[in-house]
Amino acid sequence: MNVILFGPPGVGKGTQGVRLSEKLGIIQLAMGDLLRAAVKEGSDLGVKAKAFMDAGKLVPDDVVVGMIEERITAADAKAGFLLDGFPRNVPQAEALAAMLDKHGLKIERVIFMDAPESMLLERLSGRLICRACGFGFHRHYSPPREEGCCDRCSGELYQRDDDREEVIAQRLGVYQEQTQPLLDYYSSADGFFKIDAAGEVADVYKALEKAVQG
Ligand code: AMP
Repeated sequence: MNVILFGPPGVGKGTQGVRLSEKLGIIQLAMGDLLRAAVKEGSDLGVKAKAFMDAGKLVPDDVVVGMIEERITAADAKAGFLLDGFPRNVPQAEALAAMLDKHGLKIERVIFMDAPESMLLERLSGRLICRACGFGFHRHYSPPREEGCCDRCSGELYQRDDDREEVIAQRLGVYQEQTQPLLDYYSSADGFFKIDAAGEVADVYKALEKAVQG
């Protein structure tokens, strides 16, 4: 099964995407994670992407489209993939449609997750990420057992640079301007579902499971 998860920053795409992709036995392709890995490597692409990410802006379409095409056609994506954070605007959705056509692939579910803006702000500003495995925690809502240390792999937890308040505001603005129009683009597509993601992690996950079961 191939799945798109989309929605505003902080809605829980990453948190839920890890769980859902493990359950479905498919790989999770989180565009933000792929970009952060490129930044860490210090590749040309990473250097180019970093300036946009630090400013809370979208990385140019040609960069992210190329990265996704490489990943969805790789051997480990044969059983299926879950896209988190891609596409993020209508031109990316159009590029994805053309690339799926070209490779004889299909998206079975497009799931839109939504939550009120006050909740997104709270979730983003308290978010902690494991430097080693990428698993997410929250200072108040889902704190790690030991401060600063990942429950899953004991890796170091950190706050993303772009989870600072001034960058969060910019990211939410970019979402409204560029990503929200995807709702119109996908709402009449086969396999489209809208999920209320304002609840507890376990409840949102149940709603997602229901959506993938159809
Ligand atoms: P995320 O981890 O999904 O919150 O993404 C972090 C940052 O990576 C975003 O604020 C953008 O700068 C960049 N990014 C992630 N996905 C995309 C995308 N599909 N298109 C362009 N930039 C992206």
